[in-house]
Amino acid sequence: MVGKVGKIAIAVGFISFFTFVSFFGRLPALRNTPIGALYRLIWIYIPRALAALDARVTGGNISRYLARTSTYLLHEKHPLVLILFLGLITVCSILFLYSALPLLSVAQFLPVSILLPAPYYFTYLCARSSSSLIIESNHDQHLHEYPYDYVLYHPHKTCRTCLLSKPARSKHCSICRACVAKCDHHCIWVNNCLGKENYRWFLILLLSVGVLELYGSWLAWSVLSPRLQYRASVYDAPSAPSLWTRFIYLIIETVSIGGFSVTGVGLLALLTAPLPLALLLYHLYLIWTGMTTNETVKWSDWREDMADGVVFKAKRSEAVAINGPSGLPQRPDTKFYGENPSLDEVHVDWPVGSDQLLVRTIRGQPPGASEAQSNIWKRCWRLNDVDNIYDLGFWDNLLDVLRG
Ligand SMILES: [Zn+2]
Ligand SMILES: [Zn+2]
Repeated sequence: MVGKVGKIAIAVGFISFFTFVSFFGRLPALRNTPIGALYRLIWIYIPRALAALDARVTGGNISRYLARTSTYLLHEKHPLVLILFLGLITVCSILFLYSALPLLSVAQFLPVSILLPAPYYFTYLCARSSSSLIIESNHDQHLHEYPYDYVLYHPHKTCRTCLLSKPARSKHCSICRACVAKCDHHCIWVNNCLGKENYRWFLILLLSVGVLELYGSWLAWSVLSPRLQYRASVYDAPSAPSLWTRFIYLIIETVSIGGFSVTGVGLLALLTAPLPLALLLYHLYLIWTGMTTNETVKWSDWREDMADGVVFKAKRSEAVAINGPSGLPQRPDTKFYGENPSLDEVHVDWPVGSDQLLVRTIRGQPPGASEAQSNIWKRCWRLNDVDNIYDLGFWDNLLDVLRG
């Protein structure tokens, strides 16, 4: 029996850890940590080694089949993960309630009637929302939501697919096949992009799943514990077993009394509750710093280029006076942002302004052919020297998110 419980514990622990690494390992903040390294090992190096093996053994047949399937799963819009996610909640809830309902008091059950429908409702709100997608009719409205910061976002850029000028903080999503206003990320759990309108529902979804799981695991414990206390006392008397032995016995007893439907579901809920709650904390951190997930990648790229010493900063007003509207001299070693200067720049009322222009160069020399052009640029080593104009402070950032 101990062996069986041990195997279940190892399997559950392994799945939880694997999910954690897959979830958080790709975040730029963890790029240079063991979690990031493990993520690359699991998702990049091992698949590469297996592909090389397959190329030798089957001539690459398995790789091609898997590539086609994963292209569909990763790059096409499909509700498979959403169905699995809601399916898991549904199956677990039915199993749990079928066994535990007769044992619950009305007061214990009442919160379930609110907590259980919540994840379905907020998943629906996240998945159904299309008003973050930028189309001709709402394009002007989205252009007026945020100003360009001349670091992450520059005016006069046109999306090659949508053929609309890109509003600040937007991003084209190849899965949704549209530009998304204040794009955070494409979420496969809700089969939609999270942007200006539905990001707030995503945060409440994370909260609702976490709270449901914690409450579910507490209910499982409250159903099982009266019976456990009686049985656990059996092990107390004869040989004063160690705390660890008693814990193992407690688990065995819990499994034998509650079975999978109460103990299994309760344990699964307890072990997976930290995932949505940790993700919620991470998103609260992003709100605190005034960033979207998409922007963390852009800031992280800037940080690495700054460390390489190839980033230069100038006062935009000075750069524009010398070099014209883009602020950048036309030289092959600078990236020119003004793709379509004929577009009008939109004025946005925004509490924070910044007279900055940032540029990354290829050779690490200040941009500009003449001395006057070069003198205005200062090498920029740290992100702290750059303003994030989208950060208005935690409460205003949160308000901006909740307004949608
Ligand atoms: Zn687009
Ligand atoms: Zn998308």
